[in-house]
Amino acid sequence: MSTIKRYSIYEKSRMPKEGWLQQCFQCGEYTSKLLLFSTAITPRKTKIQEYWVHICGNCEYNISNHILKFIKFNKKCNHYINTKINN
Ligand SMILES: [Zn+2]
Repeated sequence: MSTIKRYSIYEKSRMPKEGWLQQCFQCGEYTSKLLLFSTAITPRKTKIQEYWVHICGNCEYNISNHILKFIKFNKKCNHYINTKINN
């Protein structure tokens, strides 16, 4: 049996860490919207890691419609995961 661990990606703010309202990772607007960015399974397959990113409706629309914005956003999220979460 695998357990699921959820991680949040968001712009640092003064909001409480576990609060549902966080700043959009792209523009800094407060939002409750979350997008499942990626999932990973640990080497022993005991844990599934889910990376959820806080993103406002506007930015979600932008990254869904502009490939370059999407690539940039992707890089930013991966960088966050590598440096702030899996470190
Ligand atoms: Zn935004």
